[in-house]
Amino acid sequence: MILVTGGAGFIGANFILQWCQQSDEPVTNLDALTYAGNLANLTAVVGSPQYRFERGDITDAALLARLMAEIKPRAVVNFAAESHVDRSIHGPQAFIHTNVNGTFTLLEAARAHWQTLPAEEQRDFRFLHVSTDEVYGSLGPNDPAFTETTAYAPNSPYSASKAASDHLVRAYHHTYGLPVLTTNCSNNYGPFQFTEKLIPLLITNALAGKPLPIYGDGQQVRDWLYVEDHCQAICRVLEAGTPGEVYNIGGWNEKTNLQIVQAVCDLLDELAPQVGGGSYASLITHVTDRPGHDRRYAINAQKIADALDWKPRETFETGLRKTVQWYLAHPEWYAL
Ligand code: NAD
Repeated sequence: MILVTGGAGFIGANFILQWCQQSDEPVTNLDALTYAGNLANLTAVVGSPQYRFERGDITDAALLARLMAEIKPRAVVNFAAESHVDRSIHGPQAFIHTNVNGTFTLLEAARAHWQTLPAEEQRDFRFLHVSTDEVYGSLGPNDPAFTETTAYAPNSPYSASKAASDHLVRAYHHTYGLPVLTTNCSNNYGPFQFTEKLIPLLITNALAGKPLPIYGDGQQVRDWLYVEDHCQAICRVLEAGTPGEVYNIGGWNEKTNLQIVQAVCDLLDELAPQVGGGSYASLITHVTDRPGHDRRYAINAQKIADALDWKPRETFETGLRKTVQWYLAHPEWYAL
């Protein structure tokens, strides 16, 4: 049995769906169901004997102790987080609550459980912490991409809270020997992503004829990875990663925000042309940049390619097409 936290969110739900397709091993999903958690993401596995849902908060030590004793997981995969940078600027407290205190409480529960295991199970236990490339800060246009040894330099309350959680995870390995793994991934896109995030926001706004807001000059650069590729990478790290190690995960696919909006508009023009013609690109609207907006992130994912033989299957073109098609086919999901 594995314990997944935050499995009703975007990446966690994709991970559970993929897990249940590829493995027979049972999975328990612990999720507090914040605004970002949506059980409709998991309809395909509800009722399966392989899947169990538990509503709860990763800061709840008593709940975690009970759950660990009950399900005795051989691994914990921690997706639970506050994940939206803009929200962290307006209300950072929830980010400290879940990302820092929550990861700490989960580490404590995992450590207590791990210590009760026989030696062989202790050796095989894993705590996999899902993190972000944003902890590394901002790059100049010609700087080399982030590697696993790039110094942390978080610039938003979101990335600072994720950085703090990464440090705690690292410390639990060095201090207590807990077999931890940390993954730092670039921007994900794909099915089930909440519509506050850039790509689903652009798709759903365009379809509603609303403005497509782009911060500042739109020249901010991000690396983009299709969510199913991220989930495959996490499975691979869980299976074969070396405890204590960090793995950067990325798509080798840097794009400016303007390139993203143009690509989304081109696909929508093809797949859902506007009545009366005209491109969705006419809806692009530049808005005031957000404070402290990082200019560029780029991931060097060579380590996971060399050590674990992982590379993304989707290109940006194939992944974005699948994503746009999914939102077009599921209007009920984002109207929820
Ligand atoms: P999300 O916001 O879509 O989902 C987060 C999930 O965690 C939700 O289901 C929510 O209900 C749950 N949750 C929040 N607080 C909780 C708490 N205190 N206890 C239990 N559950 C709680 O996030 P996501 O985009 O799926 O991201 C998952 C993880 O991946 C996060 O740790 C994020 O930092 C990381 N990450 C995301 C991206 C991305 O592009 N989305 C990229 C790299 C890393």
